[in-house]
Amino acid sequence: MSRSEFAKATKKAAFARCCRPDGIPKCEECGQLLRAGRFQYDHDKADGLGGDNSLENCMVLCSGSKTSCHSLKTEQHDKPLMQKADNMRDAHLGLTRKKVKIKQPPKTRREPRSLASNLPPLPKLSLYRDAS
Ligand SMILES: [Zn+2]
Repeated sequence: MSRSEFAKATKKAAFARCCRPDGIPKCEECGQLLRAGRFQYDHDKADGLGGDNSLENCMVLCSGSKTSCHSLKTEQHDKPLMQKADNMRDAHLGLTRKKVKIKQPPKTRREPRSLASNLPPLPKLSLYRDAS
């Protein structure tokens, strides 16, 4: 499925919505003033999760750095949700590999050492040598 974009009219309406009364645009998430080329039109409900291209689903967010609203929303909210949706779809369609339990060898009880009882007894040694 390919990504869909907002229509030009939707972007214009969203931009007009995010402008203060004096006409200066601000981020609809954090309120930071927007500079040219440093904002994005973002799907509030992600396109990959069934979000449409309506004006209600369009947000104007600051962008351009890793800590901007658009980057944070994409990395921390949208991507994990889409990954989870992909995993659930794959599981539903049987596309995931089944977990294979690794067989362990059966536990054997260690036999007590009975080797000494099977051998003939050792000759007795005297503690002292004969003085000769
Ligand atoms: Zn922002």
